[in-house]
Amino acid sequence: MSDTKENLVCPACGNTMTKIYDEEKGINIDICLDGCGGILFDNRELDKFDENIENADTILKEIKNKTFQEVDSTATRICPACNTPMVKMGAGIAGVEIDYCNVCGAKFLDNGELENIRNGIKADISNIDNIINNLYQDNLKDIIGDKNYNSVIKNSPRRQFFENLVNSYLKK
Ligand SMILES: [Zn+2]
Ligand SMILES: [Zn+2]
Repeated sequence: MSDTKENLVCPACGNTMTKIYDEEKGINIDICLDGCGGILFDNRELDKFDENIENADTILKEIKNKTFQEVDSTATRICPACNTPMVKMGAGIAGVEIDYCNVCGAKFLDNGELENIRNGIKADISNIDNIINNLYQDNLKDIIGDKNYNSVIKNSPRRQFFENLVNSYLKK
């Protein structure tokens, strides 16, 4: 689907959404600036903003430090682009569920979810090895004769114990 031309009605609060043009990426994003702060991304547009290294300043500066209307994020939303009921979908980050339109591919994020997705991805990928190594070094390396693995702790079979533990917590 290409960018919609006319202003859309927010699927969460019913207010008219504002089009924000992102020059760098050449696309319009619909944001509910006068209502709940929700953001609608057309098909695949979210992929351009969902990682911390990607520039999302155009969007973030619009919503930063603003207070938005509270909405029920569990309610079923109707896609404002094609009128289809949207489905809830995990975003790969603990506790974040977004609304997805199976027909046109639009994704609706409640206020705060974009920041959570961007920060969550960063934490998961860049810090997970450090968390595991620290747990291992704090708890096991001296008491069970693992000193030989100090230089290459990834080789320790006992480190695997912490890797499994962390994975079962963080990658649910
Ligand atoms: Zn809204
Ligand atoms: Zn749709």
